Amino acid sequence: MNFKDLPVSSLMEITSRPELVFVEGHGAWLTDQNGKKYLDFVQGWAVNCLGHSPKVIADALTAQASKLISPSPAFYNQPMIALAKILTDNSVFDRVFFANSGAEANEGAIKLARKWGQKKKGGAYEIITFDHSFHGRTIATMSASGKPGWDVIYAPQVPGFPKADLNDLASVEKLIGDKTVAVMLEPVQGEGGVLPATREFMQALRRLCDEKKLLLICDEVQTGVGRLGTLFGYQHFGVEPDIMTLGKGIGGGVPLAALLAKESVSVFEHGDQGGTFNGNPLMCAVGLAVLGEVLKPGFLDHVQKIGAYLGEQLTAASAELELGAERGIGLLRALDLKAEIGAKVVTIARDNGLLLNSPRPALLRFMPALNVSKEEVDLMIVGMKAAIKAARA
Ligand code: PLP
Repeated sequence: MNFKDLPVSSLMEITSRPELVFVEGHGAWLTDQNGKKYLDFVQGWAVNCLGHSPKVIADALTAQASKLISPSPAFYNQPMIALAKILTDNSVFDRVFFANSGAEANEGAIKLARKWGQKKKGGAYEIITFDHSFHGRTIATMSASGKPGWDVIYAPQVPGFPKADLNDLASVEKLIGDKTVAVMLEPVQGEGGVLPATREFMQALRRLCDEKKLLLICDEVQTGVGRLGTLFGYQHFGVEPDIMTLGKGIGGGVPLAALLAKESVSVFEHGDQGGTFNGNPLMCAVGLAVLGEVLKPGFLDHVQKIGAYLGEQLTAASAELELGAERGIGLLRALDLKAEIGAKVVTIARDNGLLLNSPRPALLRFMPALNVSKEEVDLMIVGMKAAIKAARA
């Protein structure tokens, strides 16, 4: 396959893509159109929690596809019921609404909080969010996000999302007024550069929300389903949110997301929320397969151990190459390069058969499959160090 012969100009230009077409993936490895292999530490942006094309997902898809794909969201189906039950049995939430993307799940969380505000808090609708947060690419979730520049790109924004500073309780308190209904945050800001909330901040935020009668919403699209070494990120911080959203990992690579809420907050009335593909059995069957693996004894222990190992190896690499600190929780980690060479490192590493991500100019982010092995971490470290040295040369 010659790249120059492919009709890629039929696609809308939405980002700069390298001249690569991935044709196959297994576990930690991807293969391009020329048969070249790449060790993947991006995994579809923290999506493929079991690696590329795992057998359990392929089996679940084939079995469900030959049985029932889409009876309509107006009817119950078996995988939808079973997946909701697993999620509620293993979390502090009582009700689940399935969606197709993280942004859609977050839209649902925003709607649910606004509905709760109408019913229980005198029409309050403002949701305090955070600078550098990322909640999705719909107009409302872009407005909720604190990504620099997003306030103007499709102006005017949806009103009602004042921004506070992560880990600064006073900055949240300052924004609370009669119209405030909720506070929404990522337990670890992922796209913002792997910036974890502190345990003290999360717990103080929970107390503040209780005191002011506000909902605490955790966007766990990136941190949920084992990424931080706990099934859900909030468990790491010892708090109970009122609402949580999941995406990415829950589908292990297919479009599946979820909005979860406690019973007292589940105030949607018939007709308030829905969608053609929401809760379809094909995707929910995959969600069941993913959770079946993540909940197996030892799976989350592995994430904790291998995450700590990755952290140690990044720290050692940093000492050797005089880089900045590494940070993160579980298998969502980052390394400060101390110089704006992130994009260059990513390009050189890719040419050498290693996929890395640089969410900020001087930062690398690591989000491998949750079942990544020690050998794969070691290989990545060797490739990363070589790419950093070459980028500096
Ligand atoms: N929320 C968080 C924390 C995310 O990291 C992302 C995607 O990166 C989203 C929401 C949006 O998810 P999606 O791209 O599936 O709409």
